[in-house]
Amino acid sequence: MGNPLYDTLFGRHAGQDTVFLHLPDGSTLTHDAFLRMAAQYAHQIVHCGLKAGDRLAVQIAKSPQALAVYAACAQTGVIFLPLNTAYTPAEVAYFQENSGAKLFLCDGKNADGLAPVSANSGARQETLNADGTGSFAEMVAGNPDQFDTVERENNDLAAFLYTSGTTGRSKGAMLTQGNLLSNAQVLTDVWRFTSDDVLLHALPIFHTHGLFVATNICLLSGAQMVFYPGFDVQAIIRDMPRATTMMGVPTFYTRLLERDDFTADHARNMRLFISGSAPLLAETHREFEGRTGHRILERYGMTETNMNTSNPYDGERRAGTVGFALPGIDLRVCDNQGTELPQGEIGTIEVRGPNVFKGYWQMPEKTAEELRDNAFFITGDLGLIDADGYVTIVGRGKDLIISGGYNIYPKEVELVLDQAPGVQESAVIGVPHPDFGESPVGILVRRSGETPDTDAIMASLGDSLARFKHPRKLLVVDALPRNTMGKVQKNVLRDEYQGLFA
Ligand code: ATP
Ligand code: MG
Repeated sequence: MGNPLYDTLFGRHAGQDTVFLHLPDGSTLTHDAFLRMAAQYAHQIVHCGLKAGDRLAVQIAKSPQALAVYAACAQTGVIFLPLNTAYTPAEVAYFQENSGAKLFLCDGKNADGLAPVSANSGARQETLNADGTGSFAEMVAGNPDQFDTVERENNDLAAFLYTSGTTGRSKGAMLTQGNLLSNAQVLTDVWRFTSDDVLLHALPIFHTHGLFVATNICLLSGAQMVFYPGFDVQAIIRDMPRATTMMGVPTFYTRLLERDDFTADHARNMRLFISGSAPLLAETHREFEGRTGHRILERYGMTETNMNTSNPYDGERRAGTVGFALPGIDLRVCDNQGTELPQGEIGTIEVRGPNVFKGYWQMPEKTAEELRDNAFFITGDLGLIDADGYVTIVGRGKDLIISGGYNIYPKEVELVLDQAPGVQESAVIGVPHPDFGESPVGILVRRSGETPDTDAIMASLGDSLARFKHPRKLLVVDALPRNTMGKVQKNVLRDEYQGLFA
């Protein structure tokens, strides 16, 4: 029977001296050395009393050792649960309790603060530090470097990945081996990854983008990763000439463009730049093409489904869109009742396919609300499909503004504001209003050294937007609040400005 996830991603490299990771100190780690380390970890996970289906939570720095914990979970059938390193002990308490993790690995520097949390939830706590040391690493040292892979099936759970918490409390998405594998296979194929590729990997590995999209594709294709502890624009520019591809959130691209010394020459060996996790401004797309000659390929996905759509590898990569549904995945735009809308109309995006998760862990009601009987998952994102089949995301359902009974899609207004003189980017939110229920407010981020003329911008809106869509107020700020994945936190903005019309 085997273990589809382990065999397909990891086991295929057994005994291979090919390079898996390029590390910041200039050294490399081979697939074989990585798998031996993972096998030692697998023995330790079993010694700690975990068996297939149990949960192992980690809040550790990005390192080869952290990836080895993922591999060891796959090999033992233990459910891997990576947590954002920014979470406070109080937040970790929720994830530990919610998941019922039996073993929790944290950085030694946080161990004292987290010990009471682990004691309270009953998780055994061990440490694994950024440099690979720690109590867990010490215990592992004498273990055999071969492990008999535990048998699993496609339908068995592989990971609990918690959503980013952009719209509310993070939910634990239960992902099966089949969910992860089907997506890795499709993406490797459509993005043409091979063992000749070298990926610049500067994303965190507690999120689907850096963990499943990037890492699984590289494992499946045999591609190498230049593995950074975090995003360092200087290091990316330095290393780009020896890479062939990069995956990033939109801020990676804006940070590269801010650097005047970043030129097409750095990208001379690159074949593909991919962006996702948050909307890429059409302007960034154009500027990046102007600078490097490369059209960034934007794709769309989420924790619950891995990736759903992608712009084409060969065809036109259309700025401001997320491309087409991936092979094997159905995507439709519906009204709230789940009735498919005519082509071109805005509605809620629903997806169905082998990538769609099993449900939210211990949240049967939430699962029932978002997963239809016919297996479509209600993403909560609003969008449309244009006449050529390209999908455009216009925002999240929770960010939709209803003013005096009219629907206002923030993205439509933001696209207009983004073009205004002195404006770098914008966010439009609904703020409670005594007459209209809600009124749109535009938050403008100034271009450095400039001050947008809000009266002039307001006066110019009539050219492009119906009156009811005009923001009632425009405010100028230096930056938008963003989470670690570069997502604008509109709930933070709504809280901040909720009293504006009171
Ligand atoms: P939560 O569900 O807890 O509120 P979250 O939805 O931000 O958090 P993730 O699963 O990390 O958590 O993010 C998925 C969301 O990211 C999608 O639903 C979508 O809103 C957004 N997203 C991802 N890729 C893109 C993209 N290319 N363009 C626009 N939005 C995107
Ligand atoms: Mg979400």
